[in-house]
Amino acid sequence: MMGEKKHKSGFVNIIGYPNAGKSTLVNQLMGMKLNIVSPKAQTTRHRILAIDNGEDYQIVYSDTPGLLKPAYELHKAMQFYIEQALEDADIFILLIDLTKDVDWEPVVLEKIKNTGVPVILTFNKYDLVKEEDVEKSIKKWTGIFPDASYVVVSALNGYMTDVLKTIILQKLPEGPEYFPKNENDISDKNLRYFVSEIIREKIFLLCREELPYSVEVYVEKYKENPEMDHIYAVIVVERESQKPMIIGKQGRMLKEIGTLARKDIEELIGKKVFLSLHVKVDKNWRKDKNKLKKYGYLIQDERNSGHSRKA
Ligand code: GDP
Ligand code: MG
Repeated sequence: MMGEKKHKSGFVNIIGYPNAGKSTLVNQLMGMKLNIVSPKAQTTRHRILAIDNGEDYQIVYSDTPGLLKPAYELHKAMQFYIEQALEDADIFILLIDLTKDVDWEPVVLEKIKNTGVPVILTFNKYDLVKEEDVEKSIKKWTGIFPDASYVVVSALNGYMTDVLKTIILQKLPEGPEYFPKNENDISDKNLRYFVSEIIREKIFLLCREELPYSVEVYVEKYKENPEMDHIYAVIVVERESQKPMIIGKQGRMLKEIGTLARKDIEELIGKKVFLSLHVKVDKNWRKDKNKLKKYGYLIQDERNSGHSRKA
Protein backbone atom coordinates (compact mmCIF):
# COMPACT_ATOMS: atom_id res chain seq x y z
CA MET A 1 0.00 0.00 0.00
CA MET A 2 1.19 3.51 -0.77
CA GLY A 3 2.33 5.55 2.22
CA GLU A 4 2.15 2.61 4.54
CA LYS A 5 3.64 3.52 7.88
CA LYS A 6 6.33 1.57 9.63
CA HIS A 7 5.60 0.22 13.07
CA LYS A 8 7.04 2.23 15.94
CA SER A 9 7.63 1.07 19.46
CA GLY A 10 9.66 1.64 22.57
CA PHE A 11 10.04 2.23 26.26
CA VAL A 12 9.06 5.67 27.43
CA ASN A 13 10.59 6.03 30.83
CA ILE A 14 8.90 8.61 33.03
CA ILE A 15 11.19 10.06 35.65
CA GLY A 16 9.87 12.25 38.39
CA TYR A 17 9.60 12.60 42.11
CA PRO A 18 6.69 11.00 43.94
CA ASN A 19 3.57 13.13 43.45
CA ALA A 20 4.91 14.81 40.33
CA GLY A 21 1.91 13.28 38.57
CA LYS A 22 3.34 10.21 36.83
CA SER A 23 0.27 8.04 37.34
CA THR A 24 -2.09 10.89 36.47
CA LEU A 25 -0.14 11.61 33.31
CA VAL A 26 -0.11 8.00 32.17
CA ASN A 27 -3.84 7.70 32.76
CA GLN A 28 -4.38 10.83 30.71
CA LEU A 29 -2.12 9.63 27.89
CA MET A 30 -3.96 6.33 27.82
CA GLY A 31 -7.28 8.13 27.45
CA MET A 32 -10.18 5.74 27.73
CA LYS A 33 -8.04 2.76 26.91
CA LEU A 34 -8.10 -0.07 29.32
CA ASN A 35 -4.80 -0.22 31.03
CA ILE A 36 -3.96 -3.87 31.30
CA VAL A 37 -0.36 -4.43 32.15
CA SER A 38 0.76 -7.97 32.06
CA PRO A 39 3.36 -8.92 34.65
CA LYS A 40 4.79 -11.03 31.89
CA ALA A 41 5.75 -7.74 30.37
CA GLN A 42 7.46 -6.63 33.55
CA THR A 43 11.16 -6.74 34.00
CA THR A 44 13.08 -5.95 37.13
CA ARG A 45 14.59 -3.04 35.26
CA HIS A 46 11.43 -1.37 34.13
CA ARG A 47 8.31 -1.05 36.10
CA ILE A 48 5.71 -0.92 33.42
CA LEU A 49 2.89 1.49 34.08
CA ALA A 50 0.90 1.03 30.92
CA ILE A 51 1.10 -0.15 27.34
CA ASP A 52 -0.56 1.98 24.71
CA ASN A 53 -1.21 -0.10 21.61
CA GLY A 54 -2.07 1.66 18.39
CA GLU A 55 -2.39 0.15 14.96
CA ASP A 56 1.09 1.25 14.01
CA TYR A 57 2.70 1.85 17.38
CA GLN A 58 3.25 0.44 20.82
CA ILE A 59 4.27 2.79 23.62
CA VAL A 60 5.44 1.10 26.78
CA TYR A 61 5.28 3.55 29.65
CA SER A 62 7.55 2.68 32.50
CA ASP A 63 9.23 4.35 35.39
CA THR A 64 12.38 3.69 37.31
CA PRO A 65 11.54 3.66 40.97
CA GLY A 66 14.32 4.74 43.26
CA LEU A 67 16.03 6.96 40.76
CA LEU A 68 15.41 10.17 42.62
CA LYS A 69 16.52 8.96 46.01
CA PRO A 70 19.07 10.73 48.17
CA ALA A 71 22.61 9.98 47.02
CA TYR A 72 23.43 7.25 49.53
CA GLU A 73 20.34 5.22 48.74
CA LEU A 74 20.65 5.93 45.06
CA HIS A 75 24.09 4.38 44.97
CA LYS A 76 22.62 1.08 46.07
CA ALA A 77 19.68 1.25 43.74
CA MET A 78 22.00 2.07 40.87
CA GLN A 79 23.81 -1.21 41.25
CA PHE A 80 20.58 -3.11 41.23
CA TYR A 81 18.74 -1.89 38.20
CA ILE A 82 18.85 1.76 37.44
CA GLU A 83 21.84 1.81 35.13
CA GLN A 84 20.28 -0.70 32.78
CA ALA A 85 16.83 0.77 33.02
CA LEU A 86 18.22 4.04 31.76
CA GLU A 87 20.13 2.41 28.96
CA ASP A 88 17.10 0.45 27.81
CA ALA A 89 14.85 3.47 27.51
CA ASP A 90 13.97 4.91 24.11
CA ILE A 91 12.58 8.19 25.39
CA PHE A 92 12.74 9.91 28.76
CA ILE A 93 9.94 12.02 30.03
CA LEU A 94 11.36 14.14 32.80
CA LEU A 95 8.29 15.06 34.74
CA ILE A 96 8.82 18.29 36.60
CA ASP A 97 6.32 19.36 39.20
CA LEU A 98 5.95 23.09 38.64
CA THR A 99 4.68 23.53 42.17
CA LYS A 100 7.83 21.94 43.57
CA ASP A 101 10.64 22.36 41.11
CA VAL A 102 13.48 20.91 43.13
CA ASP A 103 16.98 20.30 41.82
CA TRP A 104 17.76 16.72 40.88
CA GLU A 105 20.85 14.82 41.92
CA PRO A 106 23.67 15.80 39.55
CA VAL A 107 24.60 12.13 39.23
CA VAL A 108 21.11 11.38 37.91
CA LEU A 109 21.23 14.21 35.39
CA GLU A 110 24.63 13.00 34.28
CA LYS A 111 23.41 9.42 33.83
CA ILE A 112 20.43 10.58 31.80
CA LYS A 113 22.59 12.75 29.56
CA ASN A 114 25.19 10.05 29.05
CA THR A 115 22.62 7.64 27.65
CA GLY A 116 22.03 9.90 24.66
CA VAL A 117 18.34 8.98 24.82
CA PRO A 118 15.94 11.77 23.69
CA VAL A 119 14.46 13.76 26.55
CA ILE A 120 11.06 15.38 26.71
CA LEU A 121 10.94 17.89 29.54
CA THR A 122 7.37 17.81 30.74
CA PHE A 123 6.32 20.54 33.12
CA ASN A 124 3.27 19.45 35.04
CA LYS A 125 0.57 21.10 37.17
CA TYR A 126 0.41 24.16 34.95
CA ASP A 127 -3.01 24.91 36.40
CA LEU A 128 -1.50 25.54 39.83
CA VAL A 129 1.28 28.01 39.14
CA LYS A 130 2.03 31.52 37.93
CA GLU A 131 3.32 32.13 34.42
CA GLU A 132 6.61 33.55 35.72
CA ASP A 133 7.34 30.36 37.65
CA VAL A 134 6.73 28.36 34.50
CA GLU A 135 9.20 30.48 32.61
CA LYS A 136 11.77 30.14 35.36
CA SER A 137 11.49 26.35 35.30
CA ILE A 138 11.68 26.15 31.54
CA LYS A 139 14.78 28.31 31.54
CA LYS A 140 16.46 26.21 34.17
CA TRP A 141 15.70 22.83 32.59
CA THR A 142 16.33 23.72 28.99
CA GLY A 143 19.67 25.03 30.27
CA ILE A 144 20.44 21.57 31.61
CA PHE A 145 19.06 19.76 28.55
CA PRO A 146 19.53 22.11 25.59
CA ASP A 147 18.56 19.45 23.05
CA ALA A 148 15.37 18.35 24.76
CA SER A 149 11.84 19.00 23.57
CA TYR A 150 9.59 20.46 26.17
CA VAL A 151 5.92 20.85 26.86
CA VAL A 152 3.88 22.37 29.65
CA VAL A 153 0.94 20.23 30.70
CA SER A 154 -1.72 19.76 33.26
CA ALA A 155 -1.97 16.01 33.62
CA LEU A 156 -5.02 16.23 35.81
CA ASN A 157 -7.25 17.93 33.24
CA GLY A 158 -5.47 16.82 30.09
CA TYR A 159 -4.24 20.22 29.03
CA MET A 160 -1.58 19.72 26.30
CA THR A 161 -1.19 16.01 26.98
CA ASP A 162 -2.21 15.33 23.37
CA VAL A 163 0.73 17.46 22.28
CA LEU A 164 2.98 15.41 24.51
CA LYS A 165 1.71 12.23 22.89
CA THR A 166 2.42 13.67 19.45
CA ILE A 167 5.98 14.42 20.51
CA ILE A 168 6.36 10.89 21.88
CA LEU A 169 5.15 9.37 18.63
CA GLN A 170 7.55 11.56 16.66
CA LYS A 171 10.49 10.44 18.74
CA LEU A 172 9.51 6.80 19.03
CA PRO A 173 11.88 4.62 17.01
CA GLU A 174 10.81 2.03 14.50
CA GLY A 175 10.37 -1.26 16.27
CA PRO A 176 8.34 -4.43 16.73
CA GLU A 177 5.45 -5.26 19.01
CA TYR A 178 7.41 -6.05 22.12
CA PHE A 179 4.30 -7.38 23.80
CA PRO A 180 1.45 -9.14 22.00
CA LYS A 181 -1.19 -6.51 21.41
CA ASN A 182 -4.17 -8.70 22.03
CA GLU A 183 -2.94 -10.52 25.04
CA ASN A 184 -4.94 -9.45 28.03
CA ASP A 185 -4.49 -12.50 30.13
CA ILE A 186 -1.63 -12.84 32.44
CA SER A 187 -0.35 -16.02 33.80
CA ASP A 188 -0.70 -16.62 37.47
CA LYS A 189 2.78 -18.09 37.62
CA ASN A 190 4.32 -15.01 36.14
CA LEU A 191 2.37 -12.86 38.50
CA ARG A 192 3.87 -14.81 41.38
CA TYR A 193 7.26 -14.31 39.91
CA PHE A 194 6.87 -10.56 39.68
CA VAL A 195 5.48 -10.36 43.17
CA SER A 196 8.56 -12.16 44.45
CA GLU A 197 10.79 -9.84 42.46
CA ILE A 198 9.15 -6.80 44.03
CA ILE A 199 9.71 -8.21 47.51
CA ARG A 200 13.30 -9.06 46.71
CA GLU A 201 13.86 -5.55 45.46
CA LYS A 202 12.59 -4.08 48.74
CA ILE A 203 14.87 -6.33 50.74
CA PHE A 204 17.75 -5.21 48.61
CA LEU A 205 16.92 -1.56 49.08
CA LEU A 206 16.25 -1.74 52.82
CA CYS A 207 18.82 -4.14 54.21
CA ARG A 208 22.23 -2.68 54.79
CA GLU A 209 24.35 -5.79 55.01
CA GLU A 210 25.55 -7.94 52.15
CA LEU A 211 22.68 -10.22 53.00
CA PRO A 212 20.36 -9.67 50.02
CA TYR A 213 22.55 -11.63 47.66
CA SER A 214 21.84 -14.78 49.59
CA VAL A 215 18.14 -14.13 49.84
CA GLU A 216 15.43 -15.64 47.71
CA VAL A 217 11.72 -15.02 47.72
CA TYR A 218 8.89 -17.18 46.53
CA VAL A 219 5.13 -16.92 46.64
CA GLU A 220 3.69 -19.89 48.43
CA LYS A 221 0.05 -19.04 48.02
CA TYR A 222 -1.81 -16.55 45.88
CA LYS A 223 -5.47 -16.36 46.67
CA GLU A 224 -7.54 -14.16 44.46
CA ASN A 225 -10.51 -12.46 46.01
CA PRO A 226 -12.88 -9.93 44.50
CA GLU A 227 -11.97 -7.21 47.01
CA MET A 228 -8.43 -8.04 47.94
CA ASP A 229 -5.88 -10.64 46.88
CA HIS A 230 -4.14 -12.58 49.65
CA ILE A 231 -0.50 -13.34 49.07
CA TYR A 232 1.70 -15.52 51.25
CA ALA A 233 5.35 -15.13 50.43
CA VAL A 234 8.41 -16.77 51.90
CA ILE A 235 11.79 -15.12 52.20
CA VAL A 236 14.51 -17.75 52.22
CA VAL A 237 17.87 -17.08 53.82
CA GLU A 238 20.86 -19.40 53.97
CA ARG A 239 21.83 -19.05 57.60
CA GLU A 240 20.03 -18.80 60.90
CA SER A 241 22.09 -15.69 61.69
CA GLN A 242 20.55 -13.90 58.69
CA LYS A 243 17.02 -14.26 59.92
CA PRO A 244 17.15 -11.40 62.41
CA MET A 245 18.61 -9.12 59.74
CA ILE A 246 15.49 -9.52 57.66
CA ILE A 247 13.09 -9.39 60.56
CA GLY A 248 14.71 -6.46 62.35
CA LYS A 249 14.11 -5.16 65.83
CA GLN A 250 10.59 -6.08 66.88
CA GLY A 251 9.91 -7.07 63.31
CA ARG A 252 10.29 -3.56 62.02
CA MET A 253 12.41 -4.39 58.99
CA LEU A 254 10.08 -7.12 57.82
CA LYS A 255 7.15 -4.81 58.31
CA GLU A 256 8.71 -2.13 56.17
CA ILE A 257 9.65 -4.58 53.45
CA GLY A 258 6.04 -5.73 53.47
CA THR A 259 4.57 -2.26 53.37
CA LEU A 260 6.69 -1.07 50.45
CA ALA A 261 6.23 -4.28 48.52
CA ARG A 262 2.49 -4.29 49.07
CA LYS A 263 2.15 -0.80 47.62
CA ASP A 264 4.02 -1.78 44.48
CA ILE A 265 2.07 -4.99 44.09
CA GLU A 266 -1.19 -3.11 44.48
CA GLU A 267 -0.11 -0.70 41.80
CA LEU A 268 0.93 -3.57 39.55
CA ILE A 269 -2.32 -5.48 39.76
CA GLY A 270 -4.63 -2.54 40.37
CA LYS A 271 -6.17 -4.08 43.41
CA LYS A 272 -5.82 -4.16 47.20
CA VAL A 273 -3.49 -6.77 48.56
CA PHE A 274 -3.01 -8.53 51.86
CA LEU A 275 0.64 -9.51 51.96
CA SER A 276 1.95 -11.95 54.50
CA LEU A 277 5.71 -12.48 54.71
CA HIS A 278 7.54 -15.33 56.41
CA VAL A 279 11.26 -15.89 56.83
CA LYS A 280 12.73 -19.38 56.50
CA VAL A 281 16.23 -20.78 56.70
CA ASP A 282 17.29 -23.16 53.96
CA LYS A 283 20.98 -23.91 53.64
CA ASN A 284 21.13 -25.34 50.18
CA TRP A 285 18.53 -23.61 48.08
CA ARG A 286 21.00 -22.56 45.44
CA LYS A 287 22.14 -26.10 44.76
CA ASP A 288 18.84 -27.81 44.57
CA LYS A 289 17.20 -27.67 41.20
CA ASN A 290 13.78 -28.69 42.40
CA LYS A 291 13.92 -25.92 44.88
CA LEU A 292 14.87 -23.48 42.20
CA LYS A 293 11.80 -24.57 40.35
CA LYS A 294 9.68 -24.09 43.38
CA TYR A 295 11.13 -20.66 43.94
CA GLY A 296 10.19 -19.60 40.48
CA TYR A 297 13.57 -19.68 38.76
CA LEU A 298 12.50 -22.08 36.09
CA ILE A 299 9.34 -20.24 35.38
CA GLN A 300 10.25 -19.50 31.77
CA ASP A 301 9.88 -23.18 30.89
CA GLU A 302 6.37 -23.28 32.16
CA ARG A 303 5.01 -20.14 30.67
CA ASN A 304 1.99 -21.61 29.07
CA SER A 305 0.85 -23.87 31.82
CA GLY A 306 -1.31 -22.88 34.75
CA HIS A 307 -4.48 -20.90 34.69
CA SER A 308 -4.62 -17.29 33.77
CA ARG A 309 -6.00 -14.23 35.39
CA LYS A 310 -6.96 -10.79 34.34
CA ALA A 311 -5.41 -7.73 35.93
P1 GDP B 1 2.93 10.16 41.05
O1 GDP B 1 3.34 9.87 42.46
O2 GDP B 1 4.05 10.83 40.32
O3 GDP B 1 2.37 8.98 40.32
O4 GDP B 1 1.79 11.29 41.16
P2 GDP B 1 0.21 11.12 41.00
O5 GDP B 1 -0.16 10.92 39.57
O6 GDP B 1 -0.28 10.14 41.97
O7 GDP B 1 -0.27 12.58 41.39
C1 GDP B 1 -0.01 13.15 42.66
C2 GDP B 1 -1.06 14.20 42.99
O8 GDP B 1 -0.93 15.31 42.11
C3 GDP B 1 -2.46 13.69 42.81
O9 GDP B 1 -3.25 14.22 43.84
C4 GDP B 1 -2.88 14.26 41.47
O10 GDP B 1 -4.28 14.46 41.35
C5 GDP B 1 -2.16 15.58 41.46
N1 GDP B 1 -1.89 16.06 40.10
C6 GDP B 1 -1.25 15.42 39.12
N2 GDP B 1 -1.19 16.19 38.01
C7 GDP B 1 -1.80 17.35 38.31
C8 GDP B 1 -2.09 18.56 37.57
O11 GDP B 1 -1.73 18.72 36.41
N3 GDP B 1 -2.76 19.53 38.24
C9 GDP B 1 -3.16 19.39 39.53
N4 GDP B 1 -3.82 20.40 40.09
N5 GDP B 1 -2.93 18.28 40.23
C10 GDP B 1 -2.26 17.26 39.64
MG1 MG C 1 2.17 6.93 40.97
